[in-house]
Amino acid sequence: MKRHILLHACCAPCATAAIEILDNDFDGDISVLYYNPNIAPRTEMETRFEELKRYLSERYGDKISLIKGEYDATEWLHRVAPLSSSGEGGKRCFECYYMRLHYLFEQAKELGVTDVSTTLSISPHKDKKWLDEIGNLLATHYGISWYSHSWDYRRSVELSKEYNLYRQDYCGCIFSLKERNERVAARELRKLKR
Ligand code: SF4
Repeated sequence: MKRHILLHACCAPCATAAIEILDNDFDGDISVLYYNPNIAPRTEMETRFEELKRYLSERYGDKISLIKGEYDATEWLHRVAPLSSSGEGGKRCFECYYMRLHYLFEQAKELGVTDVSTTLSISPHKDKKWLDEIGNLLATHYGISWYSHSWDYRRSVELSKEYNLYRQDYCGCIFSLKERNERVAARELRKLKR
């Protein structure tokens, strides 16, 4: 059976290095799923999607299909808000990973693909152990292979520069946006006190 992989992508910069590897390993049989109900505000979610679309088109033409998942932000908030105080890297992120990967496997089942993966593990702020734990659990349930890889972060930075990609400075959710704003405010305050 010919293998085809569905890659969950959170944004263009994170997708760059992963697609290079998969293009080689799957001989171009790749589809990309953009499903990120965590990203707020909605305009930010749309900006990241448009940038991913631009990158795929500029680099790969129409070779790789891009699927846009639903923006079920209310459901995401319902699940994650009770855990919001855990901070980035805490329990709220586990729930956020789970929701996105579960959707990925559901889409993979509908499309009849053999493998799935995610770009999330490229970020040094993400917990690869958790991603693999969820991926392997769902793989057993769905009978679809979980492709685990440590993507090359430095390569993603290189490609992002080369293609002049928009690179956000917060993970995506309103909680991470608030934490980013607090960090910036604290930095500015320190400067004023010097
Ligand atoms: S910090 Fe990132 S991974 Fe964690 S809950 Fe927010 S969007 Fe999801």
